[in-house]
Amino acid sequence: MSLITLRSAMLQAEKGGYAVGSFNFFGLENVQGIIAAAAAKNSPVIAQASPGCVRHMGEKGIVGMVRGISDDYGVPVVLHLDHATDYDTICRCIDNGFTSVMIDASSKSYQENVDITARVVEYAAQCGCSVEAELGHVGGNEEDVTVDERRALFTEPDKARQFVEDTEGIDALAIAVGTAHGFYKLPPKLDFERIAEIHRLIPKTSLVLHGGTGVPEDDFRRAIQLGVRKINIGTELWYCGYGNVMKKYAEEMPYNSDPRKVMAHVREECQKITEHKMDVFGSTGKNLV
Ligand SMILES: [Zn+2]
Repeated sequence: MSLITLRSAMLQAEKGGYAVGSFNFFGLENVQGIIAAAAAKNSPVIAQASPGCVRHMGEKGIVGMVRGISDDYGVPVVLHLDHATDYDTICRCIDNGFTSVMIDASSKSYQENVDITARVVEYAAQCGCSVEAELGHVGGNEEDVTVDERRALFTEPDKARQFVEDTEGIDALAIAVGTAHGFYKLPPKLDFERIAEIHRLIPKTSLVLHGGTGVPEDDFRRAIQLGVRKINIGTELWYCGYGNVMKKYAEEMPYNSDPRKVMAHVREECQKITEHKMDVFGSTGKNLV
């Protein structure tokens, strides 16, 4: 098996009318769980590392590990860099074998966002690597913004069309339509009309929903019907799949016992979370390789 591009996974998702989950990993056992889920569900899968994860594990270590686990489980994997803001980090990840990168310049001005995104597109094209960008700003739940302030940062459909033209060749676009990163205090309200309108205007660019943890399942299904093709799940794996599992089992562990027993629970829990999302996103059974 091998690492495949986001573009190839997105083309199949668009044809099939489903979304592919993009799951954050932080270490060996949780990326094993994510890829084991893809094997069990015969589903396409995107494994994504944040720049913090790249700093923690090193880009060469990540590429070698994910490629090896893809071989172990016999499933192709898109290896994606999530929310990178730094051009040099992106180039290093591309050089070392990431098959997809996100440049997030969504907090910059429109023109600055266009300029750096176009530079990344140009660099990535040399290696056949896919590119995701962001327009509008998704932001975090922890940020102290009102509902109106958040709406002001939603992606404008006309601007999205202009952005795709100006950046010449992005494969995917993260859109701000009512989701946020982290846990929700109240269920999010997605702007479905906006999703449909953006998809109508840029049908060849795959739409990405960030902040997937805590979005009601029916909202996922409706967003997918309207054109969302990649959905990011980070927070749920970080806490429910990793941190809380380690805390629970490590506390129960007798002194001088085998730490792999704790880590095996991380793998199991991450696999369970990922498998369920694949069913909801409609990607189960859609691995054509
Ligand atoms: Zn995100």
